[in-house]
Amino acid sequence: MGHKDPQVRRAYDQRRSRAGYHLKNRYRISLVEYDKMLDKQGGHCVFCTATCETNGHKLAVDHDKMTGRFRGVLCRRHNAALGTFGDTETSILRVLDYVRGK
Ligand SMILES: [Zn+2]
Repeated sequence: MGHKDPQVRRAYDQRRSRAGYHLKNRYRISLVEYDKMLDKQGGHCVFCTATCETNGHKLAVDHDKMTGRFRGVLCRRHNAALGTFGDTETSILRVLDYVRGK
């Protein structure tokens, strides 16, 4: 991302650097991994069109709680929903059965 104004550029770099530090510490992934995943998802949440700019919130890092695998990036709503539904294959399948009327 090339910004011509050096002051804007510096502020951008500082933000990126802080975000990178936060990611590495909290989730053990790098900003590069985060950006790569976001790019793979088309720049938005796995389940909806929310982007990092939507509501000014950064998309949340989602991990498989059992294996620690970095699954993807989600908007706040969907990250919370996944947690609410129990975040396991069994619990999600129960939700699927429910919406199907089983
Ligand atoms: Zn979403």
